[in-house]
Amino acid sequence: MAGIVPFLLHLIFPVRCPLCGRAGSCGCVECIKEVLSPNFSLCIKCLGPYPCSEHSSSFPHYWGARHEGMARKLVHLLKYENNGALGVSMGMALASYVTGMSADALVPIPLHIGSPRLFNQSRKIAQGLSLKFDIPMRDCLAWNVEVAPRASKGSTRSELPENSFKVTGSLGGIKTAIICDDVCTTGATIQKAASSLAKIGIEVVGSISFTVGKGPKL
Ligand SMILES: [Zn+2]
Ligand SMILES: [Zn+2]
Repeated sequence: MAGIVPFLLHLIFPVRCPLCGRAGSCGCVECIKEVLSPNFSLCIKCLGPYPCSEHSSSFPHYWGARHEGMARKLVHLLKYENNGALGVSMGMALASYVTGMSADALVPIPLHIGSPRLFNQSRKIAQGLSLKFDIPMRDCLAWNVEVAPRASKGSTRSELPENSFKVTGSLGGIKTAIICDDVCTTGATIQKAASSLAKIGIEVVGSISFTVGKGPKL
């Protein structure tokens, strides 16, 4: 009898929080917050502490956890098991550890050309951030070039061409933006996205990702 209520809940809501197992939750914001922690912001050019004495034209990158352990597992559940609602909760949890972020729009890194994914995981995280920060999301970027989904081991994306992205959506009235990604490995992708927005007069004042790979200075 004791197990009948969770069983019935599971029939009605056939999902469970991957952290606490609660039926009907795709991922509790409070559970995900336990996986993250407040972190110092990073220089997007070298992933060292921000402000950076070597890169005066850089902007701060905010992040929730290193790309390892349970944080990495959550990114994988979001991307490979099509748990889109989890991504929104991940964005909301991430927002609770970041202060002082202000911009006219949140811009997610788009899916790669030909991606088999059902949805853009970075957009889901941006949706959660948007709800908490009360900053509108503008899904306005598209890849111009075909690249491997992630830099392979030992390589970087610093060789990405300058015109890696194009702006596809309307950005009227937007002067500043924050770029959002699920994982930041080298910062190269975010920097190219920032260049494409700069070309149409939008200043990128920061970027944010759920996790950060082990950068050279982390
Ligand atoms: Zn939970
Ligand atoms: Zn730097």
